[in-house]
Amino acid sequence: MLASVNGNSSSSDWPGRYYHVDQVLDTPGPRTDPSFLAGDGVKDFLRNQCKILVIGAGGLGCEILANLALSGFKDIHVIDMDTIDISNLNRQFLFRPKDVGKPKAIVAAEFVMNRVPGVKVTPYYGKIQDKDEEYYMQFNLVICGLDSVEARRWINATLVNMVDPENPESLKPLIDGGTEGFKGQARVILPTITSCYECSLDMLNKQTAFPICTIANTPRLPEHCIEWASVLEWPRVFKDKKMDTDDPEHINWLYITALKRAKEFNIEGVTWSLTQGVVKNIIPAIASTNAIIAASCCNEAFKIATSSAAYLNNYFMLIGTEGVYSYTFEHEKRDDCPVCGGQTMDITISKDWTVDRLIEMLVERQDIQIKKPSLSTPTKQIYFQAPPQLEEATRPNLEKKVSELVPDGGEMTITATTLPFSLSLRVKYA
Ligand SMILES: [Zn+2]
Repeated sequence: MLASVNGNSSSSDWPGRYYHVDQVLDTPGPRTDPSFLAGDGVKDFLRNQCKILVIGAGGLGCEILANLALSGFKDIHVIDMDTIDISNLNRQFLFRPKDVGKPKAIVAAEFVMNRVPGVKVTPYYGKIQDKDEEYYMQFNLVICGLDSVEARRWINATLVNMVDPENPESLKPLIDGGTEGFKGQARVILPTITSCYECSLDMLNKQTAFPICTIANTPRLPEHCIEWASVLEWPRVFKDKKMDTDDPEHINWLYITALKRAKEFNIEGVTWSLTQGVVKNIIPAIASTNAIIAASCCNEAFKIATSSAAYLNNYFMLIGTEGVYSYTFEHEKRDDCPVCGGQTMDITISKDWTVDRLIEMLVERQDIQIKKPSLSTPTKQIYFQAPPQLEEATRPNLEKKVSELVPDGGEMTITATTLPFSLSLRVKYA
């Protein structure tokens, strides 16, 4: 029997535990790729050498950890910054009521190790940003099961930046899963080789920001009415009183106000729970969607780690809102992707736009989405969000026209403290 990773567990690693997995790994055949090198070598790699990192120990993370452990990965690391909330228990099945308040990563690791002897799960309770490149370099693979776009952008950019063409070991495949209600996607990212997370930013279907003119004048959706109640009516009626989205009376007021508005425009579908969902920005989590997506991610991880079959190239989407529709395609790299593309992005704006207006665009545009951007040209600082002295010094520029500060065809660099990369823009005036 092969020595196991944490040394003391070979005895508890009962014979036959991986019988079914071994069916795939022992013999090349109808279940595997023809070039696959079956046998002890690949089993030794999977069980004694391969180190995999799971980011997120929530709805997707619990499923991913269980699947990896049961398919033979034995050296698993997990990072999560959250603690367990009672509302997680319906789907995050590694947690029990006694665990409420404890860190997800730690409880999940203990559960998996108890359930699957011989597997070592190393938890880290904290942020992915706490760790440096040296830490990420130790893994063979990274799987993300996150609900945060910001965190995904961070890990994606970090793994792309880590690639050293001289050192093939520096390329860490990233498998990313995401769900939203009955919808989900799983994808394989080979940093610098395939399209990256940032390349596909405009595919996020979550539209949380609606144009204010639509909200104010031409509502079509129940969401527009709810936004009208919360963004325009609340401040008009209550002045400086802050809205508390956890206060049922506040939600109730928004619901009634939105409902009146909806009646006026013959719009159906404003409900109490939709109102709460829109103002709190709640994405419904469905356990079975998480299971499908997590399973897809883990199958890809297994195939990549063992080369037993061709892996996903590169984007699988599942849409379960109108029957079931699923689709796999090759998402292409974007030459002007600020993370992996290397080319400057061209934008055309009006000569009259102020810096403030440009910032609004950088926040809103689906393919940019940089919250709190700082702007500079090769020769001057245009606007900096921090530190406070620099913010104050550059604040007067917000009112100025971009065309007064940057020549036609001039380049600007956009940065944000939350993102480990910068965006180069070439500005043209219409
Ligand atoms: Zn990219």
